[in-house]
Amino acid sequence: MKFYSTHQKCPPVTFREAVMKGLAADGGLFMPEEIPVLPASFFHQLKTMTFQEIAFEVAQHLLKQELPAAKLQEIIESAFNFEVPLRSLSEQIHTLELFHGPTLAFKDFAARFMARLMAYFIAGSPQKLTILVATSGDTGSAVADGFFQMDGIQVFILYPAGKVSAIQEKQLTTQGKNIIALEIQGTFDDCQHIVKQSFMDDDLVMKLNLTSANSINIARLIPQSFYYFHATAQIAGPLQPIIFSVPSGNWGNITAGVFAKRMGLPIAKFVAAVNANDGIPKYLKSGHFQVQPTRQTLSNAMDVGNPSNFARILDLYHHDPVKIREDFWSVSILDDEVRQTIQEAYAKYNYILEPHGAVGYAALKRYLKASDSKNKVILLETAHPAKFLPVVQELIPTSISMPDRLKQCQKLEKKSIFLPANFHIVKEFLMNF
Ligand SMILES: *Cc1c(COP(=O)(O)O)cnc(C)c1O
Repeated sequence: MKFYSTHQKCPPVTFREAVMKGLAADGGLFMPEEIPVLPASFFHQLKTMTFQEIAFEVAQHLLKQELPAAKLQEIIESAFNFEVPLRSLSEQIHTLELFHGPTLAFKDFAARFMARLMAYFIAGSPQKLTILVATSGDTGSAVADGFFQMDGIQVFILYPAGKVSAIQEKQLTTQGKNIIALEIQGTFDDCQHIVKQSFMDDDLVMKLNLTSANSINIARLIPQSFYYFHATAQIAGPLQPIIFSVPSGNWGNITAGVFAKRMGLPIAKFVAAVNANDGIPKYLKSGHFQVQPTRQTLSNAMDVGNPSNFARILDLYHHDPVKIREDFWSVSILDDEVRQTIQEAYAKYNYILEPHGAVGYAALKRYLKASDSKNKVILLETAHPAKFLPVVQELIPTSISMPDRLKQCQKLEKKSIFLPANFHIVKEFLMNF
């Protein structure tokens, strides 16, 4: 299986190169040359398979000979060692809890898979690999955990001082060893800008053997397709077309859903749930996409004005808004409605949503009303409510308990290196590290 660039201006590369480079030389995103349909026998057995078995079959099918089967098996078993439960809110509406990994957000699926894959690819190489990642919170925590103590890999996480939650900051800054947190005196956009400049800087790229752990990396998307199969299999009765509601920011999670659909999983519709950052619902109406300045909301991991994976969606649908509308329905949900939704879901189902899941829930309610669809719906709940404690707690009468692993890391000492939001100073730091 080769991977091409969405800009189509450089030759296709192997999976290994796509993962290690992150971004194609022409600035495009890597895509598999084909997404073959899984055999009927796979779908016949789906309901009896474990998460790991599904993950192995799907990855093996997509990656073919890119990785020895035994290695792939080992990576999958050690990466996905936590539960992925589907809970029923009603006969029709279900929620897939993607937050039972070590950092309590769905980004653990991608970070843990990618870390093991990169460690395998660089094993035996004399040069260390350096991961540079900008984060507004969840990506940094998942990357810090996923790459912790991986041989031959050095990680620098750039985060904006004072702009990630206290809980997230502890998750980023308390690991130590090969994980260094750089606390940048600026905004998330400044951090992202410094990372982009670093990738264009020959000195840094050569000296540090740099790669990206942001969701432009194809290695993050593949593992996110596994749980669409797993969730569909857990709905009672024969396999049936499901509506997935996906709280979306950079559109990595929902693009992985399209991979699953192309591999033959019956998916009736994707409800692309977004917050005030509403470039895509506007695109679906008008057929024109316009980058927007980022707006801050309660669902901060979805505060993205220019979703990087939308380029992959355009590529998969040949830039045809009519085709995209057949598979996607999108709506923007604002913070007041998010608060009401958290209260409503608790009152009605005794279920605690956090702000990202609440955007997804409010969006799916709107879709069901607009379409009158009777299909079953699966909402992807992307984070644990304890990660957004200050927001959620004041809306809910019972006290939210903090999982042990989160409690433990809150007790550890924060270690970060303060740097100004200045590329030259960050570069000097990295060159002399
Ligand atoms: C990153 C994130 C999202 C958005 O996912 P994308 O793949 O960027 O669309 C949603 N919810 C949470 C909790 C996240 O951390």
